[in-house]
Amino acid sequence: MADCLFCKIIAGEIPGKFAHQDDQLVAIADINPQAPLHLLIIPRRHIATLNDLTPGDDALVGAMQRTAAALAAQHGYSEHGYRTVFNTNRGAGQTVFHIHLHLLAGRGLGWPPG
Ligand code: AMP
Ligand code: ZN
Repeated sequence: MADCLFCKIIAGEIPGKFAHQDDQLVAIADINPQAPLHLLIIPRRHIATLNDLTPGDDALVGAMQRTAAALAAQHGYSEHGYRTVFNTNRGAGQTVFHIHLHLLAGRGLGWPPG
């Protein structure tokens, strides 16, 4: 999609610090990290919000969560714990309208989130 920040990062038009790449997903470091580990797991295909998912995307979203778990493991956070978050629409803080799963770890993570 022409005017999408994450489509541009995936296309290499804007730099990103890639932590993972495969045929359907990438993971990049968040530019404004909210925890010592803050990665964004992003599908290569543009999907604006979770509201736009179809049943055909079930495996993709499962792969996003499993990739987050694998990246958490790579960084040593499997046992202690980590958080994965999708923000959907502005009321929940979504600012980039291309779905992405936040992976946060490395500090105390309060509940409920703000
Ligand atoms: P959200 O607010 O859930 O839509 O998350 C968007 C995230 O993208 C925020 O945590 C931003 O810090 C992050 N972000 C914005 N621009 C960039 C960028 N150029 N590279 C990496 N992360 C970014
Ligand atoms: Zn996009």
